[in-house]
This record gives sequence, C-alpha cells and structure tokens, in this order.
Amino acid sequence: MLTECPHCFTDVLAKSDGTCPACQVIVGNTAGTDPGLTKVSLRHGMAPLPGICVTCAHETDARVPFSRRVRNARYSSNPMMGGGGLGIGLTWLLDLLSGKMHQEIVLRIPQCERCAAEKREVRIRSLDFENAVATLIVRREFRDALERAR
Ligand SMILES: [Zn+2]
Ligand SMILES: [Zn+2]
Repeated sequence: MLTECPHCFTDVLAKSDGTCPACQVIVGNTAGTDPGLTKVSLRHGMAPLPGICVTCAHETDARVPFSRRVRNARYSSNPMMGGGGLGIGLTWLLDLLSGKMHQEIVLRIPQCERCAAEKREVRIRSLDFENAVATLIVRREFRDALERAR
C-alpha cells in the first residue's frame, strides 16, 4: 500500500530500509514534518474550491490569484522541428498566435486575509503543465473539504 511520504509528499512504497525512494528520508521519521499538511492536485481554472484557507484551515471567502506559465516544452526541447522551412515556420506562427507556445495554470486559491497579509506562501509541490494540474501542499482540512465536494 502506498503511503504519502511526510517529507516530499510523494505516494511511495517505502524501501526495505524504511526510506522513501523519492527523497531518501525515512518515511516513518516524522521529525520536522507537519502532519496537518498534505498534497492536493488542482486543475487549471478549477472552481469552486472549498472556502477553507489552504495555509491555516480557517474558513474564508478570500481568494488569492495563482498563475504559473511556461513555454511549451515540446517547442523549447526540440528547436529544429524536423528541418525548418516555410511550412514549419507557419505552424510555429499559428501555434504562437493560438497560445500553444505557452502552457499555463491559473487558479484562485482560498487563503484567508490574515495568511495573505502575513504572506504565507502557498507551497507548490509540482506543476504539470502538460495536463494543466498544479499539486500544492495544503492543510488536510482543505483537501478533505475538496473531496467531500466531489
Ligand atoms: Zn519522500
Ligand atoms: Zn489562513
């Protein structure tokens, strides 16, 4: 059975020596971790999200804007695109115009005014631009409310 590593929040099967295959820390050693935190995956534009502050779990109607944008990896990792030429250039231009050159994840994250005023950071575990999903580290109460709402 997979357990969520309290150090890196990856769902893992601990190795025989008890360490996490992702971060090499002993999964059962929770020193320095916060058991109130977990990860949650949110899809680009997903709404409505539960009115629970992701960093302190208080009820809130406040939202903070979240947006991350990257150049589409398919373009930057393969600049030659099979030899060039007018056809390729045109495709590139059309993709640029249609927004395919970039991938972005935009969300409105529930965070109370107090946490926002204290600039408590919404922790990002990973961003999957290919599927437009942001995985964030949040209070468990937020994830539970999100699952109840599904
Ligand atoms: Zn780990
Ligand atoms: Zn808060």
